[in-house]
Parts: sequence; structure tokens; C-alpha cells
Amino acid sequence: MTNHLFDQLFKQVNPDQRFAETETGTVYQYQDVLDESARMANALVDFGVAPGDRVVAQVQKSIDAVMLYLGCVRAGAIYMPLNTGYTLGEVEYFLDDATPVLFICEPEKQASYLPLTQHRNIKLETLGTHQSSTNSDDNPIATGLLQARDQASTNFSNVERHENDLAAMLYTSGTTGKPKGAMLTHGNLYSNAQILKQHWQFDKNDVLLHALPIFHTHGLFVAINTTIVASSSMLFLSSFQIDKVIDSLPRSTVMMGVPTFYTRMLQDNRLTQSLVSHMRLFVSGSAPLLAETHVEFNQRTGHTILERYGMTETNMNTSNPYDGERRPGTVGFALPGVDLKVNKPETDEELPQGETGMIEVRGPNVFKGYWNLPEKTKEELRPNGFFITGDLGKIDEDGYVHIIGRGKDLIISGGFNVYPKEVELVLDDMDGVLESAVIGIPHDDFGEAVVAILVASNDNAPDAEQVKQVAEHKLAKFKLPKQVHYVDALPRNTMGKVQKNILRDQFS
Ligand code: AMP
Repeated sequence: MTNHLFDQLFKQVNPDQRFAETETGTVYQYQDVLDESARMANALVDFGVAPGDRVVAQVQKSIDAVMLYLGCVRAGAIYMPLNTGYTLGEVEYFLDDATPVLFICEPEKQASYLPLTQHRNIKLETLGTHQSSTNSDDNPIATGLLQARDQASTNFSNVERHENDLAAMLYTSGTTGKPKGAMLTHGNLYSNAQILKQHWQFDKNDVLLHALPIFHTHGLFVAINTTIVASSSMLFLSSFQIDKVIDSLPRSTVMMGVPTFYTRMLQDNRLTQSLVSHMRLFVSGSAPLLAETHVEFNQRTGHTILERYGMTETNMNTSNPYDGERRPGTVGFALPGVDLKVNKPETDEELPQGETGMIEVRGPNVFKGYWNLPEKTKEELRPNGFFITGDLGKIDEDGYVHIIGRGKDLIISGGFNVYPKEVELVLDDMDGVLESAVIGIPHDDFGEAVVAILVASNDNAPDAEQVKQVAEHKLAKFKLPKQVHYVDALPRNTMGKVQKNILRDQFS
């Protein structure tokens, strides 16, 4: 029997090696992973999960949740993690769309979710523990899925799955329209893990500092699959808490983060060269890393952050080189096996090097399509295999890929295209400006007007007139912000992405 993803990921694993240590000091060897994921798979089957069924999980980050993911893979199910922040109403949409057989939630949410699952014929189970009511000194009691797992056998015969079978479904964040389920195959996930292991030179001596959420491709697949395929281990933090990160850095060799991790680390005086002397690699992705952060991090620590680019639908597409120049403000080169080109938007015409257009990618990493949305899939996934990413970008003369922004954030003012990033780079450079977001809001005359939302870094923050005076030397007139607003902080989601839709709603 072959179970493509599981077999390939665990091919070289030594059971006696360490897999993870949690922040409470619990250590898991790879043997524990094999045993616990088998138990989890048995428990899932006992709950009625069959190959191809969707299993939805909205649970806190834990090693048990990682075992749930691996148990689903072994049982041939499709794992579907949900952002822990989603509300009841949002969860209802996912349940209707994905029609899972099983929904795993946190014990304290069970009562409120029961009405949702009962009339949809979805089994509701919990992942977590509760304190015994008879004796408060007792160890916490496992409930639901964990209880079933504890009683299950460590023998499980993996369900046969091939490269093209689905292993997981992750919903896109849905900043415009409803979230869509990206169908990811065993082959998509394994091929990317293998490539990242080689490209970033992971090996069994690596210790990954894991502080990302695990309902997203970055923390789940990039971090965990790459760790397993390389037989590396993790220091597994429940979230990004600066004190715990600082404590863990001296025992780690690699960290994967979103840009806000790096800005928060830089705000802490304990981040020094000696603190990170044991580290060999810092990776950033999921949102643009400011060139300024890149430079400042290097000056403070001696490390050059390696920026990479990927998305839910495609896994990772590009990376700055491990050996060679890691260029600030770029996401490096297409990974081995990935074809990347820049097309004239809305066409299949490739643009000459240096011109800005729509990034398209093709490779074993690219998903199979959107769940239940064949028309949408056809619009974005070409018959020749190229996926239209929705990201605007360009390839510079040395081949480095630059992301200019999401296509839907493009502003068309008076018939001219304004790429927000180009304006943001000028604004970010101004004295008194910490960071900026440029958006388009409806305008009677121009169709859309360029509006700058700024965060001040000191008392010299420029007013609208001063912004215009500085920017007009660097930008064409139609790109100049017509309004300037200040906010205390830009709205960001858990992956550090600026939520421009919120700003557009607020300032339109
Ligand atoms: P998600 O599907 O949540 O992973 O979001 C994917 C999107 O995040 C991409 O389409 C890009 O717009 C953005 N993104 C990811 N990595 C980077 C990066 N290094 N620089 C700029 N944008 C990025």
C-alpha cells in the first residue's frame, strides 16, 4: 500500500530522533509521531471517516493538532484546518461548502456549535482536555477525539493514496468575496516539502523555531512538512510571544516567520548577534518584508533574512538563494521545478523582462482547483497548467522576482495605473513615517483617487501638503495621494498581511 504524502515524508525518519519540544517541555520523538498519528487515524475511522471525506478542525495550536493532520493523511481523509478566529457564522459557511463528515472543535465551543452540526448530519467532536470536577488536583481529562485516540491502537494500515489524491483543503483568506477551498494533493505537498528541504539545506541537526499558526500553509506545510522530510526537529511554541521566542533562539537553528515577527523582534533590545549565534537561517514570507526591516535585521544580528513567496493555492513558488545574494525587496527566483512568468494582465501574452504584469506559475506545487467551483478554477488555472496568481510583479535584470502587490489592489486613477507599492516605497522613506498603505477610493472625476494611510514614527509626521511636496519630486502627478490619513496601526491579519479591504471600507 502506498500513501504518497505520508510514506514520502517519513521515508528517512529515524524513530529515535526528536520531533518536537513544546513550550511546557514535553518532548516527542519520531516514534511518538508514528504511534500517535496511527492512533489518531484509528480514532477517525472509528468516528466514521472514510477515504476522501473532509475533516474540519478549528482547534488551538498543539502537537495533538499536528497528529490530527497526519492522522487524516494516513486515513486518506482531506484535512481542513480553520482559522481559530472564525466566528460561528463564518464556520457555518465552511461547513456548508465543504460538507465534512466530522468537525473537531475546542471543548468550550462544543455547545454553541452543536446546533450547526446536528441538522447537517456532521459529527462534532472535541480536541482538548477538561479539569475533573471531582478533584481539582487531578490531571486534565481527555475528551472526545483525544479520549478515542488514547484507547486506539498504534497499528494502522495507511489508506492507499496517490499523488493526485487530495490531502488537504485550505480556504483562501477571502479579502474579496467568499473564501474558496483550495484543493491540495499529496503530490503538491510532498514535492514542495522536498524542494524546500534541499533549497534551504535542512537536515537532521536542524531545530526549527515554530511560532506560526498551523491553520495556514506557512506554519502547517512549509514548516512542519519540511521539518519531517528532513528529520529535523522543532521548538513548538503555541504562538509568537516575544519572551518565549527570545528564550528559544539560542537553542534553534532556523526560524520561519511573517514580517511582523521580525519587526517585533527588532523592537526588543535582547535581540543581539550573540543571541542568534546558533542560528543558520531566518525565513520570511506570507506578506512583503520591508527592505528597511531586512537591512536593520542584518545590522543587528549579522543574519540576512531569506524572503520567499508562496500562496495557499500554490505552496511556495520562489525563494531568495541560500548561497548567493538575498536581495531586499525581492522574493528571489522560481524554485526548482516551478515555472514563473509575468503576463500582460488579462491576457496570455508574456511581457518582456522588467515590465510589471500578472505573475503566473506552473509546477507540481500548484493546486488542483477550487472546491466545487469549476468555473472559477477555469478562470484562474489555464489548460497549460499555469495558475494566474493575482499578484502583480516583475522580474529584474538579474532574474529576481519583485512582488508589486495584489492585482485587485491596483488603482486606476484618471485612466492611469497606479501600483500602490511604488507610492508606498516613497512614503515609507519620509521622515516621520513608520509605514504606509496606499489604497484607491471611488472618486467622481478620476474613477478612483489615490489615498495614503500612514503610521507616524515620530512627532515630525508630515501633513498632506508636506507629503505632496516630497512625493512630487519622485512620482508622476497622477500617483500623488489626494488625501493623507493617519492611523495608530495598519489593520493586519494573523499572517501579517495588511487588510486593505478594511481600509477601503473605512476611508471610502
Ligand atoms: P496566502 O494564500 O494567505 O498564503 O496569501 C498569499 C499571498 O500573500 C500571495 O498571493 C501574495 O500576495 C502574498 N505574499 C506571500 N509571500 C509574499 C512575499 N514574500 N512578499 C509579498 N507578498 C507575499
